[in-house]
Amino acid sequence: MLAAYAWPGPARDATGYPGPLGPAPDVPRRLQPLRPDGDTELTCDVVVVGSGAGGGVTAAELARAGLDVVVLEKGGYAAERDFSHEEGDAYARMFLYGLTLTTDDLGCRILAGSTLGGGTVVNYTTSFRTPPAVLAEWAQVSGMDAFVSGELAASLDAVAGRLGVTEDESRPSARDRLLERGLERLGWHAGPLPRNVRGCAQDTGCGWCGFGCRLGAKQSTLVTYLEEAAAAGARLVVGADARRVLVTGGHAAGVEAVGDGGHRLVVRARAVVAAAGAIETPALLLRSGLGGQVGHHLHLHPGTAAMGLFDEPVRWWEGTLQARYSAQLRERLGPYAPVFETIPVHPGTAAAALPWRSAADHRALMERSANLSLVGVLGRDAGAGRVRVDRDGSPRVRWRPARQDEARLAAGLAAAGEVLAAAGATEVFSLHRERPAFRPGAPGAQAAWAEAVRRAGFGRGRVALFSYHQMGSCRIGVDPARSAVGPDHQTHEVRGLYVADASLFPTASGVNPMLSVMALAHRAAGKVAERLS
Ligand SMILES: Cc1cc2nc3c(=O)[nH]c(=O)nc-3n(C[C@H](O)[C@H](O)[C@H](O)COP(=O)(O)OP(=O)(O)OC[C@H]3O[C@@H](n4cnc5c(N)ncnc54)[C@H](O)[C@@H]3O)c2cc1C
Repeated sequence: MLAAYAWPGPARDATGYPGPLGPAPDVPRRLQPLRPDGDTELTCDVVVVGSGAGGGVTAAELARAGLDVVVLEKGGYAAERDFSHEEGDAYARMFLYGLTLTTDDLGCRILAGSTLGGGTVVNYTTSFRTPPAVLAEWAQVSGMDAFVSGELAASLDAVAGRLGVTEDESRPSARDRLLERGLERLGWHAGPLPRNVRGCAQDTGCGWCGFGCRLGAKQSTLVTYLEEAAAAGARLVVGADARRVLVTGGHAAGVEAVGDGGHRLVVRARAVVAAAGAIETPALLLRSGLGGQVGHHLHLHPGTAAMGLFDEPVRWWEGTLQARYSAQLRERLGPYAPVFETIPVHPGTAAAALPWRSAADHRALMERSANLSLVGVLGRDAGAGRVRVDRDGSPRVRWRPARQDEARLAAGLAAAGEVLAAAGATEVFSLHRERPAFRPGAPGAQAAWAEAVRRAGFGRGRVALFSYHQMGSCRIGVDPARSAVGPDHQTHEVRGLYVADASLFPTASGVNPMLSVMALAHRAAGKVAERLS
């Protein structure tokens, strides 16, 4: 499906999708990352693995503290002039495993950035602070006062301030206007999303910013922290896949990596910071001989959606990435209830997500896809999975929705269908294999649909599930029996080996995690600098 629709061609043309809106701007690249083309050895104070939300912040803070920093990023470097905005090209070049990563039962597709700047380059810019109730839960699960003492709050202030998080850049797209209309007609909560965007002059074109923002308005680490890190002397290395942490006498001594030309890269350092994301950080640590709780407690924030067909064109690929949300169900079902958000949907994603019943049905649906909209149901999983590595050291992700999480997703979808019906959809359906649907207004149809959705369930192969947020697989805490990383961000097993990314979360954040990741990385950098300076 991705091959047919994420690239130009007759299937995609039939959807009315225009493709990229013109060429990328002819502006200079602002970074000069290294890309060694032969065996190389570097020496530094700290080597940071990964350059995303966690790695970018850590690198900048450490370089600013006067430490000699090397950042290893396995993806390449793409800047404004390189963002082709061709869906297939973006997935192949800027996403982890070219968007082919799934849970081991193929039940949930895992999306993560893999480029200089990591997830912050391709993400949707929603910038929630960690809610106080989640911080209280994290304090309780981790045994760490830092979550409630104001320490993490200060880090949240620092990163939100640096990114210029604001609600002023949240012009609703057609998708978001429909979400808001449905919510308002039901009398349900609707709110603007805070975003890390500065001076975005676009309207329509923003829908392509999930493939990189050509204006540099999205405050990814690429245009913020990594620039500052480089200005303070940090060396950024791209195409460098960290395979193993070097450990001497129980202490981290550097990293061994493979360059994208197959050559060997060794970085010797006084400390190592793993910030490769919640799938790859545990994989790196497991390849390096760590065990214990490494890889356990993985959360995925499973996402699915109710789809609505509208008389008017929506062009769900257009407009602000995300501008409105609703936490209505949290009031009814508690802090683990799903929230509603929309996302830009380009034809490759649409075709991969929409249920297949027959060639004719698929074609008809894709040809009407410009008139589809969605209410995304973003789950907060209480259940957990696990990251292991296979014989060649690649991550294997085991995760299934727990029964109570399935019940909450079903309730979320039922309510999302109600929102679309209230917004004026002529037909509403879910992403279940059988594509249960109802026509709003038909007596009893909505309740019957909600029951069909509940019965269909969320197990393997039953519904399209997507994870945009991976968390918790090297969680932080006081007790080594329940966590992989200690309160000072060093692993319980290897001194001088720090973790500074989404792996640290004690439980799923329940909100889009970028700011929480950055705040934890900000704190981690403080701990590393304190020890090394
Ligand atoms: C499409 C999409 C939309 C999203 N939208 C939002 C949003 O609107 N708001 C929000 O809060 N969150 C959003 N997220 C999630 C958010 O971007 C991530 O939670 C966040 O970036 C995670 O930070 P991290 O540092 O843990 O990992 P990442 O930012 O993913 O960075 C990890 C980096 O490490 C690199 N790496 C991995 N393995 C290795 C290795 N072995 N050697 C060297 N480098 C390696 C990767 O290539 C990657 O660049 C979105 C994610 C996606 C994919």
